Amino acid sequence: MINKLAFTMVTVCAVLAAPYCGRAQEYLSGMKWQEPPVVTPGKTNADPPSDAIILFDGKDLLAWENGENWKVKDGVATIGKGDIKTKQSFGDCQLHIEWSAPNPPKGHSQGRGNSGVFLQDHYEVQVLDSYNDKTYFDGQASAIYKQRPPMVNAMRPPGEWNTYDIVWDAPQFKDHGSLKSPAYITVLHNGVLTQNHFAVEGATPFNEAPHYEKHGKLPIHLQDHGNPVRYRNIWVREIKPAEGTREREPHFHDHATGKDTPIKKSAG
Ligand code: MG
Repeated sequence: MINKLAFTMVTVCAVLAAPYCGRAQEYLSGMKWQEPPVVTPGKTNADPPSDAIILFDGKDLLAWENGENWKVKDGVATIGKGDIKTKQSFGDCQLHIEWSAPNPPKGHSQGRGNSGVFLQDHYEVQVLDSYNDKTYFDGQASAIYKQRPPMVNAMRPPGEWNTYDIVWDAPQFKDHGSLKSPAYITVLHNGVLTQNHFAVEGATPFNEAPHYEKHGKLPIHLQDHGNPVRYRNIWVREIKPAEGTREREPHFHDHATGKDTPIKKSAG
């Protein structure tokens, strides 16, 4: 009798191939998620994935306003006259950009390889030659300018290529213009985390306190600070959260009895 029961249990488990055999209770979120779209990654993590918008692939700066005033040669764009701005506007995004400080280095502090990557036109991730050269910490490479130094200094020497991989959550505004949610930024400098979901305090001008003014999608722009910083391999992905609808509240499902039990909310 016991042998028969044991055999039956084994058979049931084998047939169901259920991971919950012996664990009758399963947690279910109650969410119906949409299938995440397939994206083909690049050959390396520096190469653009299939859904990326190419902003500079070494050929020209046609994706940029004022691009004609920067020099493009041998797959590299060198800062010329004036900032350049993407013709397309962006909100939430993932940005990959590579840059190289002039070699041999010239000048010091904010005068040494200064440029900048501005998300939504107003919010600067500092580009600077911070390799063995000091400036104010919230103004060095990978700083959110005048707001937050990088957690570490991950610079490569002048002439070598640095990468920034930036995740940008755009600020959100209420209808009448006040701030609903600040921008959040995460930055990896040469693969090293330097900004971790930092709540941006507002725009980053040199001569004003950080502040927000209501806006929608805006261009990405690269700063001309008078130093011939070089750029290459720039791409961006527009991002949006996974989508789903709530079909019911979270609950436990008991596979032995078929019963569902709501999850009791813990008091205070
Ligand atoms: Mg700058």
